[in-house]
Amino acid sequence: MFLKHRSEPLELRIMRYLYLRMRLSSKEVNRYFNLVKGYIGEQKFDVWLESLSNGWIILNDLLLEINNTIFQIDSLLFSERSIYLIEVKNFEGDFYIENERWYTLAGKEIKNPLDQLDKNESLLRQLLQELGISASIKPYLIFVNPDFHLYQASMNLPIIYPTQLNRFFKRLNEEPPFLEREQLKIAEKLMSLHLKDNPYSRIPFYNYDQLKKGTFCYSCHSFDVELLGNKIVCNKCYCHEDVEAAILRIVEEITILFKDQKITTNVVQEWCGVIGSKKTIRRVLMKNFRQMSHGMHSYYIK
Ligand SMILES: [Zn+2]
Repeated sequence: MFLKHRSEPLELRIMRYLYLRMRLSSKEVNRYFNLVKGYIGEQKFDVWLESLSNGWIILNDLLLEINNTIFQIDSLLFSERSIYLIEVKNFEGDFYIENERWYTLAGKEIKNPLDQLDKNESLLRQLLQELGISASIKPYLIFVNPDFHLYQASMNLPIIYPTQLNRFFKRLNEEPPFLEREQLKIAEKLMSLHLKDNPYSRIPFYNYDQLKKGTFCYSCHSFDVELLGNKIVCNKCYCHEDVEAAILRIVEEITILFKDQKITTNVVQEWCGVIGSKKTIRRVLMKNFRQMSHGMHSYYIK
């Protein structure tokens, strides 16, 4: 049972908008693609989670804080006896371990993902202690990409490889799942402590004028789209979207990028590009939002 689902991280959404609408440094572009890859990996893992029996409580994507340290957990699974702390990685290619350090096959050292798992385990333990909860934590680093291989790893590391996922979940399903209300209470407590905004997300500086305006295709993200009747049609991938859906998507994007920006017909028109008709935009806004004041100074809120 999913007590908390995963949704696309805000940081990833903002980075996508910026990637499409401004020039990012190569470092920022790398960071964006790493976020995309990480999220795809987590979604792959969620498909596996769905195979767990209903008795399991699942908390996905938690942001917690203890002693002024914020930490993010990909998944927590509650069984009768233990809490599984899961860190998901979507690494691709060949890697090796030497003296507890991790390298790509080309010899470039990378951050040891087990360090992060250790740190998260310690922080979660401290948090549970502070809450007066005693529970055994089982940490696992899970690799979901079938094109991943790790050389020279010792057998007793808390790692699950793609080829072991099937058996890992089979084993979990054989464990007695949580039955006690106590476990549910712990999960609900942790969920209530979830922080909404990650103050450490690294978003590059941007401003309103600097961003390229226009509608991009919802599927392939190309700006090469045109308006045909009441559809936005992509000239790259040929998929189409209702104008209303496209306008609502753009309004959402504006409010995510600029929290204080008033949603007016003019602003939305500026961002919509090919959907040039003020009449259409006003109709969609009036249908989906509440109009505040009238005439020149009218704007819309949810
Ligand atoms: Zn497209």
